[in-house]
Amino acid sequence: MAKYIFITGGVTSSLGKGILGASLAKLLQARGYKVTIQKFDPYINVDPGTLNPYEHGECFVTEDGAETDLDLGHYERFLNINTSQANNVTTGRVYQTVINREREGGYLGKTVQVIPHITDEIKRRMTLLGQNDEYDIILTEIGGTVGDIESLPYLEAIRQIQWELSEEECIVLHLTLIPYLRAAKELKTKPTQHSVKQMAEIGLLPDVIVCRTEKPLYGELKRKIALFCNVKANSVIEAADANSIYEVPLNMMRENLDEICLDKLKLDMGKEPKMDKWNDFLSRLKNPKSTIEIGLVGKYVELQDAYKSILESFIHAGAANEVTVNVHYIHSEHLKVNQLKEKLGHLDGILVAPGFGNRGIQGKIDAIQFTRENKIPFLGICLGMQCAVIEYARNVLGYENANSTEMEEHAEHPVINMMEEQKTIKNMGGTMRLGSYECELKKDSLAHKIYGRNYINERHRHRYEFNDQYLAEFEEAGMTAVGKHPEAQLVEIVEVKDHPFFIASQFHPEYKSTVENPHPLFVSFIEAANKYAINKNAKGGVEEEVMS
Ligand code: GLN
Repeated sequence: MAKYIFITGGVTSSLGKGILGASLAKLLQARGYKVTIQKFDPYINVDPGTLNPYEHGECFVTEDGAETDLDLGHYERFLNINTSQANNVTTGRVYQTVINREREGGYLGKTVQVIPHITDEIKRRMTLLGQNDEYDIILTEIGGTVGDIESLPYLEAIRQIQWELSEEECIVLHLTLIPYLRAAKELKTKPTQHSVKQMAEIGLLPDVIVCRTEKPLYGELKRKIALFCNVKANSVIEAADANSIYEVPLNMMRENLDEICLDKLKLDMGKEPKMDKWNDFLSRLKNPKSTIEIGLVGKYVELQDAYKSILESFIHAGAANEVTVNVHYIHSEHLKVNQLKEKLGHLDGILVAPGFGNRGIQGKIDAIQFTRENKIPFLGICLGMQCAVIEYARNVLGYENANSTEMEEHAEHPVINMMEEQKTIKNMGGTMRLGSYECELKKDSLAHKIYGRNYINERHRHRYEFNDQYLAEFEEAGMTAVGKHPEAQLVEIVEVKDHPFFIASQFHPEYKSTVENPHPLFVSFIEAANKYAINKNAKGGVEEEVMS
């Protein structure tokens, strides 16, 4: 039987429940336990796939093609495991199941209500991954903050699960904020007390309280929180602000969070946590030999969370290369042709990001042209690959009116067009080409050298594809399709010859980069950018005549 750890949040959002959960899960995993972690989100969207990144950050995609909350990305990056559709549930999905069941007559004439029907469905999903013996411990993060109306059914479901199970089968961990009032020079516990009181009102008491704080919890503070929140004195944990999210597991280990939880769950301590690979990564991260400047060209650059997995992949790849990757956000919508040199000329590598729709497209295309002509290392992802193809068609093949049919339905030269199977689809949610597909690599390509394999599997999220009709012309002119889906022959990777590093993929490598397995495409891109930076410095700057 699996045991459960629920993680709730109090006082404010954005305290890092996802990172805390992933860190605790990491420590338990390092002690030899089989763990997984799931997220329940109280919004009505069936999944975050239809959400604008400005609303909720990046949409993360799992191997099995689920469009999920970005916290699942953290879970995978920390734990080095795959999550799935079952690991992310929203209120919308819960209601959809209940309403469909009601339409099928599944409730036999009963009035369908939040309690018990919605809460039953939440409970069913909360315990789903614990049904077979795959996991010892299942961590469940509840999105939002205690006190939100919309998270009430989730808290009630946890209360019921706790009532149904024995004490040592299920615990609740509450993450709160202990604000520091500068004027009074004091840390304040009152908001935490109120948040726990709100939980108590619905019959739920935390077993462990984790306190986010910018100052150490001095003196009697921990005891005070414990006393007024009714938890054991050793169960108040300090979570001081960390320089990097990757330090949090070690901070939590120092606070004995894993041991406290195991003790409450009456599980033995397992082996001493083995964190060698993690520590190795951290020491590389903290002791870089140099810094490189990378441009991230996209249209959601105002919000860091919109490109979360890409940013984390840079961190993994930077550590692998022992360099700090300094990311410059470049808003493609505001990038003017006459500013290219000023905005991009100093960069050591440029990544053009995924995206949807017309806004900011021209900026991406111009950035790619500049990158290609000035031989700056380039990595294009999804829409970034499609823009690279359009750019090549316009500026090398001479098809001035080349475009993607996403941007221009009746483009004269539709070098990117909608996939055949997408043409009849009307619904937006979950209908793209999603999740893991195989890709065959050409032997003499850069991609093959990078991966060192003939076949790879990567995750996708797109509706449009490279238009095969133009492929021969492209290849003749120097842009080659070096990765293809073995059966459908869909183009997955393009490269440009006569360029030190110009590679773009239809898939999203960023979804598969983890601390222990930094993604080879990112690692090689950063390596190429580092080489470029070293050469540039040796030459005393970029050769002026190439820059236009
Ligand atoms: N909008 C493009 C498509 O649907 C690219 C999607 C993406 O970048 N994820 O094909």
